[in-house]
Amino acid sequence: MSLKSSAEHQNMRRLAIVGAGPIGVEFALRALEEGFAVTLYEAKTPGAHVRTWAHVTFFSPWSLNRSARGEATLQAADVELAPDDDFPTGEQYINAYLEPLVDALKRAPNFQLLEHTRVLGVSRMRALKGDLLANPQRARRPFLLRVAGPDGERFDEADVLIDASGVLDNPNHLGPGGLAAIGEEALNGEVIRAIPDVEAQHDALAGKRVLVVGHGHSAATTLGALTELREHAPQTHITWAYRAEGEPFAEIEGDTLPQRLRLSRLGNAIARGEVSGVDPVSGVFVERITRADDGLHVELADAQGQKHEIEVDRIIANVGYHPDTSLTRELQVHLCYASDGPMKLAASLLASAGNADCLAQSSAGPEVLKNPEPDFFVLGNKSYGRNPNFLLKIGLEQIDDVMTLLTQKEGDV
Ligand SMILES: Cc1cc2nc3c(=O)[nH]c(=O)nc-3n(C[C@H](O)[C@H](O)[C@H](O)COP(=O)(O)OP(=O)(O)OC[C@H]3O[C@@H](n4cnc5c(N)ncnc54)[C@H](O)[C@@H]3O)c2cc1C
Repeated sequence: MSLKSSAEHQNMRRLAIVGAGPIGVEFALRALEEGFAVTLYEAKTPGAHVRTWAHVTFFSPWSLNRSARGEATLQAADVELAPDDDFPTGEQYINAYLEPLVDALKRAPNFQLLEHTRVLGVSRMRALKGDLLANPQRARRPFLLRVAGPDGERFDEADVLIDASGVLDNPNHLGPGGLAAIGEEALNGEVIRAIPDVEAQHDALAGKRVLVVGHGHSAATTLGALTELREHAPQTHITWAYRAEGEPFAEIEGDTLPQRLRLSRLGNAIARGEVSGVDPVSGVFVERITRADDGLHVELADAQGQKHEIEVDRIIANVGYHPDTSLTRELQVHLCYASDGPMKLAASLLASAGNADCLAQSSAGPEVLKNPEPDFFVLGNKSYGRNPNFLLKIGLEQIDDVMTLLTQKEGDV
Protein backbone atom coordinates (compact mmCIF):
# COMPACT_ATOMS: atom_id res chain seq x y z
CA MET A 1 0.00 0.00 0.00
CA SER A 2 2.32 2.50 -1.48
CA LEU A 3 1.80 5.90 0.06
CA LYS A 4 0.51 4.82 3.41
CA SER A 5 3.62 4.61 5.49
CA SER A 6 5.39 7.79 4.39
CA ALA A 7 2.21 9.94 4.37
CA GLU A 8 0.99 8.66 7.72
CA HIS A 9 4.40 9.21 9.16
CA GLN A 10 4.30 12.84 8.11
CA ASN A 11 0.59 13.17 8.92
CA MET A 12 -0.27 14.20 5.37
CA ARG A 13 -3.55 13.42 3.63
CA ARG A 14 -3.08 10.93 0.81
CA LEU A 15 -4.67 12.03 -2.45
CA ALA A 16 -4.98 9.63 -5.37
CA ILE A 17 -5.68 10.79 -8.93
CA VAL A 18 -6.83 8.38 -11.62
CA GLY A 19 -5.50 9.52 -14.98
CA ALA A 20 -2.46 11.63 -15.93
CA GLY A 21 -4.24 13.61 -18.62
CA PRO A 22 -4.16 17.41 -18.61
CA ILE A 23 -6.51 17.69 -15.63
CA GLY A 24 -4.93 14.92 -13.54
CA VAL A 25 -1.49 16.50 -13.98
CA GLU A 26 -2.72 20.03 -13.19
CA PHE A 27 -4.60 18.72 -10.16
CA ALA A 28 -1.44 17.04 -8.87
CA LEU A 29 0.44 20.34 -9.06
CA ARG A 30 -2.24 22.12 -7.04
CA ALA A 31 -2.62 19.33 -4.49
CA LEU A 32 1.11 19.31 -3.76
CA GLU A 33 0.96 23.05 -3.14
CA GLU A 34 -1.80 22.40 -0.61
CA GLY A 35 0.26 19.83 1.27
CA PHE A 36 -1.26 16.55 0.11
CA ALA A 37 0.81 13.45 -0.58
CA VAL A 38 -0.13 12.70 -4.18
CA THR A 39 -0.18 9.49 -6.20
CA LEU A 40 -1.03 9.87 -9.88
CA TYR A 41 -2.11 6.64 -11.55
CA GLU A 42 -1.81 6.40 -15.33
CA ALA A 43 -2.91 3.35 -17.30
CA LYS A 44 -0.51 4.16 -20.16
CA THR A 45 1.76 7.22 -20.27
CA PRO A 46 0.86 10.81 -19.31
CA GLY A 47 -1.34 12.50 -21.89
CA ALA A 48 -2.22 9.13 -23.48
CA HIS A 49 -5.61 10.32 -24.72
CA VAL A 50 -4.31 13.57 -26.20
CA ARG A 51 -1.60 11.53 -27.96
CA THR A 52 -4.36 9.76 -29.94
CA TRP A 53 -5.12 13.10 -31.61
CA ALA A 54 -1.56 14.48 -31.57
CA HIS A 55 -1.89 15.62 -35.21
CA VAL A 56 -5.05 17.68 -34.57
CA THR A 57 -4.86 21.41 -33.81
CA PHE A 58 -6.68 22.65 -30.70
CA PHE A 59 -9.41 25.14 -31.48
CA SER A 60 -8.75 26.89 -28.17
CA PRO A 61 -5.52 28.91 -27.84
CA TRP A 62 -2.74 28.24 -25.33
CA SER A 63 -4.18 30.89 -23.01
CA LEU A 64 -7.24 28.66 -22.40
CA ASN A 65 -5.37 25.37 -22.26
CA ARG A 66 -2.85 25.99 -19.49
CA SER A 67 -3.07 27.27 -15.92
CA ALA A 68 -1.17 30.16 -14.34
CA ARG A 69 0.27 27.56 -11.96
CA GLY A 70 1.48 25.41 -14.85
CA GLU A 71 3.01 28.41 -16.58
CA ALA A 72 4.84 29.48 -13.41
CA THR A 73 6.11 25.92 -12.91
CA LEU A 74 7.56 25.84 -16.41
CA GLN A 75 9.04 29.32 -16.11
CA ALA A 76 10.77 28.26 -12.88
CA ALA A 77 12.24 25.34 -14.83
CA ASP A 78 13.40 27.66 -17.66
CA VAL A 79 10.97 26.13 -20.15
CA GLU A 80 9.94 28.66 -22.77
CA LEU A 81 6.18 29.23 -23.11
CA ALA A 82 4.53 29.40 -26.53
CA PRO A 83 2.59 32.65 -27.14
CA ASP A 84 -0.83 32.80 -25.46
CA ASP A 85 -2.74 33.26 -28.70
CA ASP A 86 -1.13 30.41 -30.67
CA PHE A 87 -3.13 27.22 -31.26
CA PRO A 88 -1.09 24.10 -30.45
CA THR A 89 -1.50 20.69 -31.97
CA GLY A 90 -2.06 17.85 -29.53
CA GLU A 91 1.59 16.92 -29.99
CA GLN A 92 2.81 20.44 -29.24
CA TYR A 93 0.63 20.55 -26.13
CA ILE A 94 2.22 17.32 -24.90
CA ASN A 95 5.82 18.24 -25.77
CA ALA A 96 5.82 21.90 -24.80
CA TYR A 97 3.57 21.75 -21.74
CA LEU A 98 2.34 18.45 -20.31
CA GLU A 99 5.62 16.56 -20.36
CA PRO A 100 7.65 19.41 -18.79
CA LEU A 101 4.95 19.66 -16.09
CA VAL A 102 5.23 15.93 -15.42
CA ASP A 103 9.02 16.30 -15.20
CA ALA A 104 8.54 19.06 -12.61
CA LEU A 105 6.11 16.88 -10.65
CA LYS A 106 8.58 14.01 -10.60
CA ARG A 107 11.12 16.24 -8.86
CA ALA A 108 8.62 17.17 -6.13
CA PRO A 109 8.66 15.47 -2.74
CA ASN A 110 5.48 13.64 -1.68
CA PHE A 111 4.60 12.80 -5.29
CA GLN A 112 4.64 9.59 -7.21
CA LEU A 113 3.58 8.89 -10.79
CA LEU A 114 2.65 5.27 -11.39
CA GLU A 115 2.71 4.79 -15.16
CA HIS A 116 1.34 1.68 -16.88
CA THR A 117 -0.77 1.23 -13.79
CA ARG A 118 -4.50 0.96 -14.35
CA VAL A 119 -7.01 1.54 -11.57
CA LEU A 120 -9.45 -1.34 -11.97
CA GLY A 121 -11.97 -0.39 -9.31
CA VAL A 122 -12.38 1.77 -6.21
CA SER A 123 -14.30 1.37 -2.98
CA ARG A 124 -14.02 2.15 0.74
CA MET A 125 -12.03 0.14 3.24
CA ARG A 126 -14.39 -2.22 5.11
CA ALA A 127 -17.54 -0.53 3.71
CA LEU A 128 -19.81 -1.75 0.97
CA LYS A 129 -21.63 0.63 -1.36
CA GLY A 130 -24.76 0.65 0.81
CA ASP A 131 -22.96 0.95 4.17
CA LEU A 132 -22.72 4.10 6.30
CA LEU A 133 -25.16 6.12 4.21
CA ALA A 134 -24.87 9.85 5.02
CA ASN A 135 -22.81 8.81 8.01
CA PRO A 136 -19.65 10.81 8.79
CA GLN A 137 -17.95 7.51 9.64
CA ARG A 138 -17.82 6.72 5.93
CA ALA A 139 -15.33 9.54 5.33
CA ARG A 140 -13.02 8.02 7.94
CA ARG A 141 -12.69 4.77 5.99
CA PRO A 142 -9.90 5.24 3.44
CA PHE A 143 -10.56 4.68 -0.23
CA LEU A 144 -9.40 1.33 -1.48
CA LEU A 145 -8.04 1.19 -5.02
CA ARG A 146 -7.59 -2.07 -6.87
CA VAL A 147 -4.77 -1.43 -9.30
CA ALA A 148 -2.87 -3.43 -11.93
CA GLY A 149 0.70 -2.33 -12.57
CA PRO A 150 3.89 -3.79 -13.99
CA ASP A 151 4.25 -5.99 -10.85
CA GLY A 152 0.69 -7.33 -10.95
CA GLU A 153 -2.44 -6.48 -8.99
CA ARG A 154 -2.62 -4.98 -5.51
CA PHE A 155 -4.75 -2.74 -3.27
CA ASP A 156 -3.69 0.85 -2.49
CA GLU A 157 -5.27 3.34 -0.07
CA ALA A 158 -6.08 7.03 -0.25
CA ASP A 159 -7.95 9.65 1.80
CA VAL A 160 -9.12 11.72 -1.17
CA LEU A 161 -9.90 10.35 -4.62
CA ILE A 162 -10.03 12.23 -7.94
CA ASP A 163 -11.33 10.44 -11.03
CA ALA A 164 -9.83 12.27 -14.02
CA SER A 165 -9.76 9.24 -16.29
CA GLY A 166 -11.47 10.89 -19.27
CA VAL A 167 -13.78 9.19 -21.76
CA LEU A 168 -11.65 8.43 -24.80
CA ASP A 169 -11.25 4.74 -23.90
CA ASN A 170 -14.98 4.26 -24.52
CA PRO A 171 -16.15 5.29 -28.00
CA ASN A 172 -19.88 5.24 -28.73
CA HIS A 173 -21.45 2.74 -31.11
CA LEU A 174 -22.70 3.53 -34.60
CA GLY A 175 -26.15 1.96 -34.49
CA PRO A 176 -29.67 3.14 -33.69
CA GLY A 177 -30.31 4.56 -30.24
CA GLY A 178 -26.64 4.23 -29.29
CA LEU A 179 -26.63 0.44 -29.72
CA ALA A 180 -24.05 -1.33 -31.82
CA ALA A 181 -25.20 -1.72 -35.43
CA ILE A 182 -25.79 -5.28 -36.55
CA GLY A 183 -22.34 -6.66 -37.37
CA GLU A 184 -20.49 -3.70 -35.84
CA GLU A 185 -18.94 -5.61 -32.96
CA ALA A 186 -17.82 -8.50 -35.13
CA LEU A 187 -16.18 -6.04 -37.54
CA ASN A 188 -14.84 -3.75 -34.81
CA GLY A 189 -11.28 -3.97 -36.15
CA GLU A 190 -12.46 -2.47 -39.45
CA VAL A 191 -13.77 0.72 -37.85
CA ILE A 192 -11.44 3.68 -37.19
CA ARG A 193 -12.74 5.27 -33.97
CA ALA A 194 -10.65 8.45 -33.92
CA ILE A 195 -9.73 11.39 -36.11
CA PRO A 196 -7.30 9.70 -38.49
CA ASP A 197 -3.86 11.12 -39.14
CA VAL A 198 -4.44 11.27 -42.88
CA GLU A 199 -0.75 11.74 -43.63
CA ALA A 200 0.34 8.75 -41.56
CA GLN A 201 -2.55 6.62 -42.84
CA HIS A 202 -2.22 7.80 -46.43
CA ASP A 203 -2.11 4.34 -48.01
CA ALA A 204 -5.14 3.17 -46.05
CA LEU A 205 -7.28 6.15 -47.13
CA ALA A 206 -6.05 7.65 -50.43
CA GLY A 207 -8.18 6.57 -53.36
CA LYS A 208 -10.55 4.61 -51.10
CA ARG A 209 -14.30 4.80 -50.50
CA VAL A 210 -14.57 6.22 -46.98
CA LEU A 211 -17.66 6.51 -44.79
CA VAL A 212 -17.48 9.17 -42.05
CA VAL A 213 -20.18 8.96 -39.35
CA GLY A 214 -21.00 11.72 -36.84
CA HIS A 215 -21.77 15.41 -36.82
CA GLY A 216 -19.55 16.95 -34.17
CA HIS A 217 -16.34 18.91 -34.60
CA SER A 218 -14.32 15.68 -34.69
CA ALA A 219 -16.27 14.51 -37.76
CA ALA A 220 -15.78 17.95 -39.33
CA THR A 221 -12.03 17.71 -38.65
CA THR A 222 -11.93 14.29 -40.31
CA LEU A 223 -13.92 15.60 -43.30
CA GLY A 224 -11.56 18.57 -43.59
CA ALA A 225 -8.51 16.28 -43.67
CA LEU A 226 -10.13 13.93 -46.20
CA THR A 227 -11.16 16.77 -48.54
CA GLU A 228 -7.51 17.93 -48.47
CA LEU A 229 -6.43 14.38 -49.25
CA ARG A 230 -8.73 14.43 -52.30
CA GLU A 231 -6.72 17.33 -53.74
CA HIS A 232 -3.90 14.95 -54.64
CA ALA A 233 -5.86 11.68 -54.51
CA PRO A 234 -9.08 12.73 -56.31
CA GLN A 235 -10.33 9.14 -56.62
CA THR A 236 -10.94 9.19 -52.85
CA HIS A 237 -14.69 9.15 -52.35
CA ILE A 238 -16.30 10.22 -49.09
CA THR A 239 -19.80 9.54 -47.79
CA TRP A 240 -20.79 11.49 -44.70
CA ALA A 241 -23.66 9.99 -42.70
CA TYR A 242 -25.11 11.74 -39.67
CA ARG A 243 -28.29 11.64 -37.68
CA ALA A 244 -29.22 15.35 -37.64
CA GLU A 245 -31.25 16.81 -40.48
CA GLY A 246 -29.75 19.40 -42.81
CA GLU A 247 -26.88 21.62 -41.69
CA PRO A 248 -25.68 20.33 -38.33
CA PHE A 249 -23.22 23.03 -37.22
CA ALA A 250 -24.00 26.26 -35.39
CA GLU A 251 -21.90 29.00 -36.97
CA ILE A 252 -21.39 31.31 -34.03
CA GLU A 253 -21.74 35.00 -34.85
CA GLY A 254 -18.35 36.68 -34.35
CA ASP A 255 -16.69 33.37 -33.27
CA THR A 256 -13.34 34.19 -31.69
CA LEU A 257 -12.06 30.71 -32.50
CA PRO A 258 -11.19 30.72 -36.22
CA GLN A 259 -10.47 26.98 -36.41
CA ARG A 260 -13.92 26.13 -35.03
CA LEU A 261 -15.67 28.54 -37.39
CA ARG A 262 -13.74 27.11 -40.36
CA LEU A 263 -14.79 23.56 -39.43
CA SER A 264 -18.44 24.55 -38.90
CA ARG A 265 -18.57 26.31 -42.26
CA LEU A 266 -16.95 23.38 -44.03
CA GLY A 267 -19.37 20.90 -42.41
CA ASN A 268 -22.41 22.94 -43.39
CA ALA A 269 -21.11 23.44 -46.95
CA ILE A 270 -20.72 19.66 -47.26
CA ALA A 271 -24.22 19.20 -45.85
CA ARG A 272 -25.56 21.50 -48.59
CA GLY A 273 -23.82 19.29 -51.18
CA GLU A 274 -21.39 22.05 -52.19
CA VAL A 275 -18.15 20.08 -51.80
CA SER A 276 -17.36 17.70 -54.64
CA GLY A 277 -16.38 14.16 -53.80
CA VAL A 278 -18.31 14.14 -50.53
CA ASP A 279 -21.89 12.80 -50.42
CA PRO A 280 -23.84 13.92 -47.35
CA VAL A 281 -26.59 11.60 -46.07
CA SER A 282 -28.46 13.30 -43.24
CA GLY A 283 -31.08 11.98 -40.81
CA VAL A 284 -29.68 8.44 -40.73
CA PHE A 285 -27.97 5.95 -38.44
CA VAL A 286 -25.96 2.86 -39.35
CA GLU A 287 -28.20 -0.19 -39.12
CA ARG A 288 -26.03 -3.01 -40.40
CA ILE A 289 -22.44 -3.64 -41.51
CA THR A 290 -21.46 -6.79 -43.40
CA ARG A 291 -18.31 -7.82 -45.16
CA ALA A 292 -18.65 -7.60 -48.93
CA ASP A 293 -16.43 -9.15 -51.63
CA ASP A 294 -14.70 -5.85 -52.06
CA GLY A 295 -14.92 -3.97 -48.77
CA LEU A 296 -17.81 -3.40 -46.39
CA HIS A 297 -21.52 -3.22 -47.13
CA VAL A 298 -23.25 -0.60 -44.96
CA GLU A 299 -27.01 -0.11 -44.53
CA LEU A 300 -28.02 3.36 -43.38
CA ALA A 301 -31.61 3.85 -42.25
CA ASP A 302 -33.64 6.97 -41.60
CA ALA A 303 -36.39 7.51 -39.02
CA GLN A 304 -39.04 6.16 -41.44
CA GLY A 305 -37.01 2.99 -42.00
CA GLN A 306 -35.95 4.00 -45.53
CA LYS A 307 -32.64 2.30 -46.40
CA HIS A 308 -29.62 3.77 -48.10
CA GLU A 309 -27.04 1.10 -48.98
CA ILE A 310 -23.39 1.76 -49.81
CA GLU A 311 -20.14 -0.15 -50.24
CA VAL A 312 -17.06 1.32 -48.64
CA ASP A 313 -13.46 0.42 -47.89
CA ARG A 314 -13.15 2.27 -44.57
CA ILE A 315 -15.52 3.43 -41.84
CA ILE A 316 -14.52 6.32 -39.60
CA ALA A 317 -16.73 6.64 -36.51
CA ASN A 318 -16.63 10.09 -34.89
CA VAL A 319 -19.78 9.63 -32.80
CA GLY A 320 -18.54 10.60 -29.37
CA TYR A 321 -17.58 8.82 -26.18
CA HIS A 322 -19.07 7.77 -22.87
CA PRO A 323 -17.55 7.43 -19.40
CA ASP A 324 -16.57 4.11 -17.83
CA THR A 325 -18.92 4.17 -14.85
CA SER A 326 -17.83 0.69 -13.72
CA LEU A 327 -14.66 2.14 -12.17
CA THR A 328 -16.60 3.79 -9.35
CA ARG A 329 -19.56 1.38 -9.18
CA GLU A 330 -18.84 0.49 -5.53
CA LEU A 331 -18.87 4.13 -4.42
CA GLN A 332 -21.90 6.25 -3.57
CA VAL A 333 -22.04 8.27 -6.77
CA HIS A 334 -25.26 9.78 -8.09
CA LEU A 335 -25.04 9.70 -11.86
CA CYS A 336 -27.25 11.50 -14.37
CA TYR A 337 -29.62 9.14 -16.17
CA ALA A 338 -29.01 10.98 -19.45
CA SER A 339 -25.31 11.81 -19.50
CA ASP A 340 -23.73 9.34 -17.03
CA GLY A 341 -21.94 12.33 -15.51
CA PRO A 342 -22.26 13.19 -11.79
CA MET A 343 -25.84 14.38 -11.22
CA LYS A 344 -25.39 17.87 -9.78
CA LEU A 345 -23.00 19.00 -12.50
CA ALA A 346 -25.15 17.34 -15.17
CA ALA A 347 -28.23 19.20 -13.94
CA SER A 348 -26.37 22.48 -14.02
CA LEU A 349 -25.16 21.76 -17.57
CA LEU A 350 -28.69 20.88 -18.62
CA ALA A 351 -29.94 24.19 -17.23
CA SER A 352 -27.46 26.08 -19.42
CA ALA A 353 -27.89 23.83 -22.47
CA GLY A 354 -29.43 26.58 -24.61
CA ASN A 355 -26.06 28.21 -25.12
CA ALA A 356 -24.60 27.07 -28.45
CA ASP A 357 -21.10 28.31 -27.63
CA CYS A 358 -19.22 25.97 -25.28
CA LEU A 359 -16.60 28.70 -24.90
CA ALA A 360 -19.13 30.81 -23.00
CA GLN A 361 -19.30 28.19 -20.22
CA SER A 362 -17.65 28.58 -16.88
CA SER A 363 -17.47 26.23 -13.94
CA ALA A 364 -20.71 26.19 -11.96
CA GLY A 365 -18.80 26.33 -8.68
CA PRO A 366 -17.72 23.88 -5.98
CA GLU A 367 -21.19 22.70 -4.89
CA VAL A 368 -22.00 20.92 -8.18
CA LEU A 369 -18.81 18.87 -7.93
CA LYS A 370 -19.84 17.25 -4.63
CA ASN A 371 -20.98 13.62 -4.61
CA PRO A 372 -22.82 11.65 -1.94
CA GLU A 373 -19.45 9.90 -1.50
CA PRO A 374 -17.32 12.19 0.67
CA ASP A 375 -13.94 13.32 -0.64
CA PHE A 376 -14.55 11.82 -4.06
CA PHE A 377 -14.66 13.99 -7.19
CA VAL A 378 -15.01 13.33 -10.89
CA LEU A 379 -13.13 16.01 -12.81
CA GLY A 380 -12.09 16.87 -16.34
CA ASN A 381 -13.63 15.36 -19.45
CA LYS A 382 -15.28 12.54 -17.49
CA SER A 383 -17.18 15.01 -15.31
CA TYR A 384 -19.22 15.93 -18.40
CA GLY A 385 -20.15 12.30 -19.05
CA ARG A 386 -21.52 11.99 -22.59
CA ASN A 387 -21.80 15.75 -22.99
CA PRO A 388 -19.16 16.69 -25.61
CA ASN A 389 -18.77 20.34 -24.57
CA PHE A 390 -15.97 19.93 -22.04
CA LEU A 391 -13.06 22.33 -22.40
CA LEU A 392 -9.75 22.39 -20.56
CA LYS A 393 -10.54 25.86 -19.26
CA ILE A 394 -13.49 24.36 -17.34
CA GLY A 395 -11.34 21.58 -15.93
CA LEU A 396 -8.80 24.12 -14.70
CA GLU A 397 -11.57 25.98 -12.88
CA GLN A 398 -12.85 22.72 -11.39
CA ILE A 399 -9.45 22.12 -9.79
CA ASP A 400 -9.71 25.34 -7.81
CA ASP A 401 -13.33 24.56 -6.90
CA VAL A 402 -12.48 21.13 -5.50
CA MET A 403 -9.51 22.47 -3.61
CA THR A 404 -11.78 25.05 -2.02
CA LEU A 405 -13.94 22.20 -0.73
CA LEU A 406 -11.02 20.10 0.45
CA THR A 407 -9.19 22.88 2.21
CA GLN A 408 -12.37 24.29 3.80
CA LYS A 409 -13.01 20.86 5.18
CA GLU A 410 -9.49 20.65 6.49
CA GLY A 411 -10.04 23.94 8.32
CA ASP A 412 -13.30 22.74 9.86
CA VAL A 413 -11.83 19.60 11.32
C1 LIG B 1 -9.92 15.73 -31.16
C2 LIG B 1 -10.10 16.50 -29.91
C3 LIG B 1 -9.87 17.86 -29.91
C4 LIG B 1 -10.04 18.59 -28.74
N1 LIG B 1 -9.81 19.93 -28.76
C5 LIG B 1 -9.94 20.64 -27.63
C6 LIG B 1 -9.69 22.04 -27.61
O1 LIG B 1 -9.39 22.66 -28.62
N2 LIG B 1 -9.82 22.71 -26.43
C7 LIG B 1 -10.16 22.06 -25.27
O2 LIG B 1 -10.24 22.72 -24.23
N3 LIG B 1 -10.43 20.74 -25.26
C8 LIG B 1 -10.33 20.02 -26.40
N4 LIG B 1 -10.60 18.68 -26.41
C9 LIG B 1 -11.02 18.05 -25.19
C10 LIG B 1 -9.71 17.55 -24.50
O3 LIG B 1 -9.26 16.30 -24.92
C11 LIG B 1 -9.93 17.28 -23.19
O4 LIG B 1 -10.34 18.54 -22.74
C12 LIG B 1 -8.73 16.80 -22.37
O5 LIG B 1 -7.96 15.80 -22.96
C13 LIG B 1 -9.35 16.30 -21.11
O6 LIG B 1 -8.37 16.05 -20.21
P1 LIG B 1 -8.65 15.07 -19.01
O7 LIG B 1 -7.41 15.15 -18.18
O8 LIG B 1 -9.94 15.33 -18.39
O9 LIG B 1 -8.79 13.60 -19.65
P2 LIG B 1 -7.92 12.80 -20.70
O10 LIG B 1 -7.05 13.66 -21.52
O11 LIG B 1 -8.89 11.94 -21.39
O12 LIG B 1 -6.95 11.92 -19.78
C14 LIG B 1 -7.38 10.82 -19.04
C15 LIG B 1 -6.17 9.96 -18.69
O13 LIG B 1 -6.61 8.92 -17.81
C16 LIG B 1 -5.97 7.70 -18.15
N5 LIG B 1 -6.81 6.62 -17.66
C17 LIG B 1 -8.05 6.25 -18.13
N6 LIG B 1 -8.55 5.25 -17.37
C18 LIG B 1 -7.63 4.99 -16.42
C19 LIG B 1 -7.59 4.06 -15.33
N7 LIG B 1 -8.60 3.22 -15.08
N8 LIG B 1 -6.48 4.03 -14.55
C20 LIG B 1 -5.44 4.90 -14.78
N9 LIG B 1 -5.44 5.80 -15.79
C21 LIG B 1 -6.52 5.85 -16.59
C22 LIG B 1 -5.87 7.78 -19.67
O14 LIG B 1 -4.87 6.90 -20.16
C23 LIG B 1 -5.55 9.26 -19.89
O15 LIG B 1 -4.16 9.50 -19.88
C24 LIG B 1 -10.43 17.94 -27.56
C25 LIG B 1 -10.66 16.56 -27.57
C26 LIG B 1 -10.50 15.84 -28.73
C27 LIG B 1 -10.76 14.36 -28.71
